[in-house]
Amino acid sequence: MIRMTDVFKEYANGTKALKGVTFELNAGEFAFLIGPSGSGKSTIIRLLIGEIAPSDGEVIVNGQDMDNIKMRKMPYLRRTIGVIFQDFRLIENKTVFENVAFAMRVIGASNKEIRQRVPYVLELVGLEFKAKSRPDELSGGEQQRVAIARALVNNPRLIIADEPTGNLDPARSLEILLLLKKINDLGTTVLIVTHEKPLVDQFSQRVIAIDGGRIVNDGMDGYYDYEDE
Ligand code: ADP
Repeated sequence: MIRMTDVFKEYANGTKALKGVTFELNAGEFAFLIGPSGSGKSTIIRLLIGEIAPSDGEVIVNGQDMDNIKMRKMPYLRRTIGVIFQDFRLIENKTVFENVAFAMRVIGASNKEIRQRVPYVLELVGLEFKAKSRPDELSGGEQQRVAIARALVNNPRLIIADEPTGNLDPARSLEILLLLKKINDLGTTVLIVTHEKPLVDQFSQRVIAIDGGRIVNDGMDGYYDYEDE
């Protein structure tokens, strides 16, 4: 889960990226975080994954206060969060299986665990027949599904997706969002950052809208009352 309370972020050059952001995403919830370019979406993500610290306010992720977390505890917290990016970030010379397995290897999983778990997540994302392919043999949508499998493989409690459909056509984008909703239905908390209004409008889900570093809307009413740019 996520709890941000009155969070301010001022960058070193004086840019005030967040001006008092408060929202909560409970365990098992699903939400879109939307807003125009420069509104503070990436800053929120970077705070949630511990890449940067807030200037003021409190950021709690999966029960851990991100400001007081000890460096040695960070790797353990990171395992409870799966992150998905716009540009997939796959390792080009590794197979689909190895790309997903790699996330388990870095946390010291055994070969037996890997052999059991990787096929399960590949099937979940519909890529069980692509295990031996390399990323350049896959479509963009398939590559993003590998990235989702990789984010899921260590069974995180929270998935954060940063513009996961930014490089995909509308049909593939919808498939990816439906997959993320399915993952949420299986119990994982999901936060999706996007600026794709038509896609968000196809889901009757919670939408948190940010503009100018402030939350301007938070509810089930999508882009209602909110104009992009
Ligand atoms: P979004 O993801 O919604 O496009 P960002 O969180 O990236 O918005 O940016 C919010 C504001 O903070 C913008 O004005 C942006 O220029 C500024 N900003 C982002 N990163 C930095 C940084 N590292 N240093 C200074 N200003 C930054």
